[in-house]
Amino acid sequence: MKSLVAVVPFAVVLVAIACGDGGQPMLVALDAGHGGEDTGATYPVDAGTDEALLFEKDLNLAVIQELASLLEADTDLRVVLTRETDEFILARERVDVALDKCESQFGRACDLYLSVHHNGFEESLVDGPQVLFDEESDILFATSLHDRLSSGLSFPPEACSYSYLYTDYGLTQEDFGLPVHEGLISATTEAYFFTNDCEADHHLSGAESFTVCDDTGGCRTVTLGPRVQDEATAIYDAVASWQDRSQDDAQGKNDYGQGCELHGAPPLVLVQC
Ligand SMILES: [Zn+2]
Repeated sequence: MKSLVAVVPFAVVLVAIACGDGGQPMLVALDAGHGGEDTGATYPVDAGTDEALLFEKDLNLAVIQELASLLEADTDLRVVLTRETDEFILARERVDVALDKCESQFGRACDLYLSVHHNGFEESLVDGPQVLFDEESDILFATSLHDRLSSGLSFPPEACSYSYLYTDYGLTQEDFGLPVHEGLISATTEAYFFTNDCEADHHLSGAESFTVCDDTGGCRTVTLGPRVQDEATAIYDAVASWQDRSQDDAQGKNDYGQGCELHGAPPLVLVQC
């Protein structure tokens, strides 16, 4: 769950690109936000753990599971997950967990780090996409994510019958409590507002079943809507698009001489490359 914050605007951004080493498959670290005792946002937003109908931690994990399946089918990509179950991991330790897994499983550092969250807000009519990034070198990836999420998901979701207020929250520069280091390209997605009545209704009336197990082996079934697949597909497309741009950049095909310009007033800040 994130609060909305003002964005520090800057006019011109130089873009640095990271790629898989020496033609090796790109290593993508996926982080399902929250987990265990940290539920993230709930629906209804003010419901306690016993009364909540939906937990952000479950939706994040469902999207990550779908996304990992799509990415692992791509021969140019390999995936590690910070968590595969309903377990608690400190936010500040998640990048280190990912880096350790890339090193132990593939013998080298991760190339890309993506954390999946969904926004929460006390006003249940609020909805819209947002992508957070930490450093200027993340902007191209963050822009690709924003473009694919805003065009790949319908706002509002189909069959919305509640009052609805859409805002494109664009890109926000904030580290989100995740200390990213070693030049790792990273971003955090907040594809939509989990606490929006239409978004929640989409999942509560859904028929997609996901099994969520905790670290003691206990499992439960979570029912969500097809928006999980739509979001995973949009993020997959964003990773593939960013990878293509990275490869073109390595071959000198991209011209970043003019940089990218941020335009619009916060909270709507979009990047034009
Ligand atoms: Zn969250």
